Amino acid sequence: MPLVTEPNLPFAFYIIAASIFGLVIGSFLNVVIHRVPLGESIVFPCSHCAACGASLRAYDNIPVLSFLLLRGRCRNCGQRISWRYPLVELLTAIIFALIVFKTGPTWEALLEMVFASLMIPLIFIDAIHHLLPNVITYPAIVFAMAATTARAGWGEPQGGALEVSVILPALVPIFTTWKAALLGGLLLTLAVPAFWLLDRLDLILYNKYFDWQEVNEEGEAATHNPEDSANEIEAVDEAAEAAAEERYRRSIRASVLFGLLAAVTWTGLCLTVSAKYPQAFGQAYSGLWGAFAGALVGSVPIWWLRAIYFVVRGVEGMGLGDVKLMAIVGAFLGWQGAFGVLLIGSIGGSVIGAILAWRSERGMKTAMPFGVCLGAAAVIVMLT
Ligand SMILES: [Zn+2]
Repeated sequence: MPLVTEPNLPFAFYIIAASIFGLVIGSFLNVVIHRVPLGESIVFPCSHCAACGASLRAYDNIPVLSFLLLRGRCRNCGQRISWRYPLVELLTAIIFALIVFKTGPTWEALLEMVFASLMIPLIFIDAIHHLLPNVITYPAIVFAMAATTARAGWGEPQGGALEVSVILPALVPIFTTWKAALLGGLLLTLAVPAFWLLDRLDLILYNKYFDWQEVNEEGEAATHNPEDSANEIEAVDEAAEAAAEERYRRSIRASVLFGLLAAVTWTGLCLTVSAKYPQAFGQAYSGLWGAFAGALVGSVPIWWLRAIYFVVRGVEGMGLGDVKLMAIVGAFLGWQGAFGVLLIGSIGGSVIGAILAWRSERGMKTAMPFGVCLGAAAVIVMLT
């Protein structure tokens, strides 16, 4: 479905517009990457130097260009600015341009831009801090489910959402308005509680087995998400811990509301306009189940892999964040996409993991941010 219908504009215009939009969004993603792991607000205060705290003037905040003009140094204190900033901006611009190159100025392009804008911070935060924050993954699962439903509704063939009615006929009951309204609404509402249950289940299954203190001293605590449980790390700073727990609760509440909003929208549309467009709603409904199937295909293997790794090695090989990431990726890209991402991500992860282990004296004990590979693979699969 086209987003813009202006026949006189050349295609190159849309590519350039997408690149500039990507630079601006990339600049914002830098703020997300820097502040979300620190638990800071992404809105206030405005951009400032990470070293001296001086507020950035508007003309020092232009994506990439300011970095080049300032020769990578803060105007106020002269400290080096991380190369990460222009890299994230350029990367976002290139991905946005490729999305529009592939799909044109469509709604699909807009959805893929949002998906990329969720993956990029997850990739960088996982690379730097070895964690995939719930603040991003919880709302992202609702977005992924809703996006797949919407694009299936307007007949977008990609993502594998439509094929699920062939693969899993038992899972997709015959379309009737009330059934679709109720079951679809339920799926959207339960997306976030499912993540929350996954977190709780993890505490029950693993928490008493992990020796967190020992893991901490080995510097491997980073392989799991500290927000996942309140009692896993010794109370070094109780106030900070309480604040983190409060942020976790707040992010869950906000995400549940987001899921409810999507469910109410779906149910409302089902009961009001579905009679007028029965075909579109049939497609949207199987798209919703397709998103569900994709989330399962993506996340269940990682969950089991993690359990098996724990049984064999006695340590946590990959975090629960990786499981959630793959649920999001599967919901957005469909089950075929999830397969591709698992394949590319694990091959890439093994190669990079082997290189890291070889170069580090810690050998096979080197912590491996698996989410980086899975996130990058997801962007690649989305673009192909
Ligand atoms: Zn400075």
